[in-house]
Amino acid sequence: MNKILFIFSCLICLSSGVQASEPAEFAIVIHGGAGTIEKSKMTPEKERAYRTKLQEAIDAGYAVLEKGGASLDAVVAAINILEDSPLFNAGKGAVYTYEGAHELDASIMDGRDRQAGAVAGVKRVANPINLARMVMEDSPFVMLAGEGAEAFARSRGVPMVDNKRFDTEQRRQQLERAKEKLDKENKQDKDYRAAVDSLPVPFRMGTVGAVALDKQGNLAAGTSTGGMTAKRFGRIGDSPVIGAGTFADNASCAVSATGHGEYFIRYNVAADICTRVAYQSKSVAQAADEVINEVLLPVGGTGGVIVLDAKGNIALTFNTKGMYRASRVAGQPAQVAIFGKD
Ligand code: ASP
Repeated sequence: MNKILFIFSCLICLSSGVQASEPAEFAIVIHGGAGTIEKSKMTPEKERAYRTKLQEAIDAGYAVLEKGGASLDAVVAAINILEDSPLFNAGKGAVYTYEGAHELDASIMDGRDRQAGAVAGVKRVANPINLARMVMEDSPFVMLAGEGAEAFARSRGVPMVDNKRFDTEQRRQQLERAKEKLDKENKQDKDYRAAVDSLPVPFRMGTVGAVALDKQGNLAAGTSTGGMTAKRFGRIGDSPVIGAGTFADNASCAVSATGHGEYFIRYNVAADICTRVAYQSKSVAQAADEVINEVLLPVGGTGGVIVLDAKGNIALTFNTKGMYRASRVAGQPAQVAIFGKD
């Protein structure tokens, strides 16, 4: 990226951090994807629908924590609501592959002991985050993919759903537009990345995630996605990759990411943020800002993260115009935001 473009891009680099004056008893932060989200391009009805769903999800997670429930349960409760909503790119409402199917990825991590579970490329599981948790708690593995993940799900009594269950008209239209654009470019695999890079950001937006701190002082993180519109079948993004899209360790922080997955994998984004917190004593806001704006942006990686540490410090950081997001700290009202500042 040339210097002028980089400086311009930095004008839209956004980050908001909440440094707790005293440790919070519990807290939860969620996201619903980052990208070109502009108020001028959104109808009041649509904006209201997003805000209502984000509020519902943050409240569900908060209620678990308030009752003394585990951060893992709060993360799953919040993500299930977003997975079941057609507004977000996870579960119902997931984007389509180039071939017109849905392949879902999810992961979860427990900050107590770095246990983790992930599923990639599943087509017939309604709530992939629940299956990721089963992999963590009920198998000796960290990641299961495709048919193997679904066979594991069936063996644990998870009902199989038709892939069409995830269909939405809006995502279908996005696929058609993305395919037109990709087909115009040379879609040989070696040029595919450049073609995908040239797609408008909304074509690859709406992943959901949550990070939570419970009353026992334990952190957890989870992420669930349909990936990127018109992705090649079998493509796996950062969301199910522990250390890239999801990370949690009580000793540093919990992170859930959203953005152009190939960059988040190559730059090990979630783990890099927590490593800076652990070894350089950076605040979560500073660590997130460095990785999102100083590491990723100059190489062309767009997206954002939500970050939480064991004292309840929060960062919601993105280098795009907006990120669907909400946070709620013990005893305080929820903060819900979509655009740069509100
Ligand atoms: N990170 C996701 C992926 O690359 C997409 C997103 O967050 O919007 O699969």
